[in-house]
Amino acid sequence: MDYQAILNIIQKEFKPNRDMGNAANYIPELSKVDPLKFGMYLYCKDGSSYQFGDSQEKFSIQSISKVFTLTLAKELLGKDLWKRVDVEPSGTAFNSLTELEREHGIPRNPFINAGSIVVADALMSTLENPKQDLLKFVRKLCGDDNINFDESVAKSEKKHGYRNKALVNYMKSLGNINNKTETILDFYFHQCSIAMTCEQLTKAFMLYANEGKHFQTQEQVIAPQSVKRINSIMQTCGFYDEAGEFSYRVGLPGKSGVGGGIVAVHPEQYAVTVWSPMLNKKGNSALGMKVLEELTTLTGLSIF
Ligand code: GLN
Repeated sequence: MDYQAILNIIQKEFKPNRDMGNAANYIPELSKVDPLKFGMYLYCKDGSSYQFGDSQEKFSIQSISKVFTLTLAKELLGKDLWKRVDVEPSGTAFNSLTELEREHGIPRNPFINAGSIVVADALMSTLENPKQDLLKFVRKLCGDDNINFDESVAKSEKKHGYRNKALVNYMKSLGNINNKTETILDFYFHQCSIAMTCEQLTKAFMLYANEGKHFQTQEQVIAPQSVKRINSIMQTCGFYDEAGEFSYRVGLPGKSGVGGGIVAVHPEQYAVTVWSPMLNKKGNSALGMKVLEELTTLTGLSIF
């Protein structure tokens, strides 16, 4: 497969233009990013890699971080985690409050904000230095220590994060949150603020394309069974109320973030990241969705 030729076709075919949407503006710091940024990086299990555009520029990974925190929490807590968060698609927006009341404070899945906040709470109760331990884990996965929180993004979200605060407080009132609201939000906003390049994200996500093994050292970081579980949740819940659409168009498990990044995984083959900050109405990168659809069309490779 000539992946570089396919990436070149995609780069030519899809030019970002401002009609595609807006960068996230409910986190003011994210709206400062140039909406026309566009990059892609694909890494194959055999060690070959392909890229174009702004693939080496860091951006805010936002909800893509929910995959890392879920992976850590699953390792540390095992099945107990599922007493506090479910694995069903939500069919609602990532920051929705609606089902929480009906479902007694148990979030639908770990990728909507409520679910990821429960995961954050579980990590806070288990890890010695939650923020540093998370960074250490992500750095290890991509074999690169040059990964940090973007303090200005974390601060910006904290200042405007009324909805996430409401989610924490509501779940706390129903007994599904153990730590203090402010401490959990501090951790959650920091995990979302992690800045990474397409290359770093792709390499980290090779874990889910390589049976739980590190892309470089081949160390078994998590069990293949965990990969099956996490990829399944990405497939059904990775794009909130657009999970069906992404699955239908792209046919791969993946995860998006409001920083405009999307990572997708083809088990046993490759991981790929696209970054384009302009979001559609569901908060997913508009161009990113198109590009990944074209990738699986041109390669003829999807999991279905
Ligand atoms: N930090 C963002 C929030 O909590 C993450 C949302 C996203 O990337 N979909 O609203």
